[in-house]
Amino acid sequence: MVIDKKNNKISNGVKNKKTYYIITIGCQMNKSDSERVAAYLEKYGFSLARNETKADLVVLTTCGVRQAAEDRVYGLVGEIKRKNPKAKIVLTGCLSERKDVKKRLGDKVDVWLPISQILNFKFQILKKIRNPKSEIRNCDYLKIKPKYSSKFSAFLAIGNGCNNFCAYCVVPYARGREVYRPAKEILAEAKNLIKNGYREVILIAQNVNSYKDGKINFSKLLKIVNNIPGDFWIRFATSHPKDMSNELIKTMTNCGRVCKHIHLPVQAGNDKVLKAMNRNYTVAHYKNLIKNIRQAMPEASITTDVIVGFPGETKKQFSNTAKLFRKIKFDMAYIARYSPRPGTAAYKLKDDVAPEEKKRREEELMKILRKTALENNEKYLGKTIEVLISGKNKRGEWYGYTGTNKNVKIRITNYELRITNLTGKFVKVKITKVRDFGLEGTIV
Ligand code: SAM
Ligand code: SF4
Repeated sequence: MVIDKKNNKISNGVKNKKTYYIITIGCQMNKSDSERVAAYLEKYGFSLARNETKADLVVLTTCGVRQAAEDRVYGLVGEIKRKNPKAKIVLTGCLSERKDVKKRLGDKVDVWLPISQILNFKFQILKKIRNPKSEIRNCDYLKIKPKYSSKFSAFLAIGNGCNNFCAYCVVPYARGREVYRPAKEILAEAKNLIKNGYREVILIAQNVNSYKDGKINFSKLLKIVNNIPGDFWIRFATSHPKDMSNELIKTMTNCGRVCKHIHLPVQAGNDKVLKAMNRNYTVAHYKNLIKNIRQAMPEASITTDVIVGFPGETKKQFSNTAKLFRKIKFDMAYIARYSPRPGTAAYKLKDDVAPEEKKRREEELMKILRKTALENNEKYLGKTIEVLISGKNKRGEWYGYTGTNKNVKIRITNYELRITNLTGKFVKVKITKVRDFGLEGTIV
């Protein structure tokens, strides 16, 4: 393997096959990026190693959204260097362009690879897919066909980047401005997945519902994918509340293949905090959206992201978030304690909510969430619903999830079914037991 640090290039110029291993930290977009890096490396002769200690090349797809994720990267780099000193380390993802991270890790990392620049590595790929003289848009790398890690459910990245500059968030700096793939390209990838037996296509971007390709907005794109013949589900994430239109709610309602689950990050339940976060919507707007979604799709599940302890968030302001949680009755929420991120607008503000208070706020929201999620799940009891099977646990029980994104553990009494491979299959399950974050049932 040749690593040309000056030109930031990797090539497998040796006869013996070299191996790679990828460690992914963070969101669905990072997982999808890793699938493209894997495809890219395999195209150039690398094969997958069993783990990072056996690999010649270790790729770290990094996340910088919270300090804890960043610290994990520092720990991992040290660990790889200790356990596998000969391995070359490639760092991509959110931290790959951060000067302070480069300074801290120095020579421990062999190649710094901003993900959108992967096309520069091999001129041939670039030549194949677009005129090499033209400028590379930061979504062009999405043309690389991923090595999908699942055989039945695939992330389909429809765009990259973000224009919203929420005060706490590094994504616009790490991934650049929003760019979207042409609808034609997305349709071709989706059709190919369905043709190959995929049961689920997950359309992903930082703000899926800001999608635009000429006259095609996200709602129209959903309709186009929904029109592909076949037996499959469509999911999408993440939607921004400011771009959640009535047209999109109507499309979700009318398109049979689109799952009735919406992930709509609220981030805070107080208008002053939302303004300080630069979210561009109010609590009333958010509540109205939920009302419209529930009116159109009473069965829909609603999940969210929320940050506790944003700079200056008072106890009173936080109590508005708790109140909103009680009112909306979310099915699931990713509750994050605010973590200052260098380079963001909020980094200049005093991180003045004490760590213990952030923890207390997180726990308070979690308590409400457990209660409302359980209440929501009670309506499934005794019902028969469609489940997409995703695997089998160590005890030999199958598990999967519903279109509304509820995890389901399945009891099988029939021996035939117990030994049949059900992974990636749709089955009908009668729900016999409900918990806060999961359901249980038997195949009917
Ligand atoms: N684009 C999505 C949106 O509009 O909400 C979210 C993408 S962001 C990468 C994922 C989540 O990480 C956010 O919804 C937010 O709750 C959380 N997050 C981002 N920056 C954070 C920070 N500095 N501290 C704590 N949580 C953060
Ligand atoms: Fe980050 Fe806000 Fe963009 Fe989401 S919308 S990626 S939270 S800047």
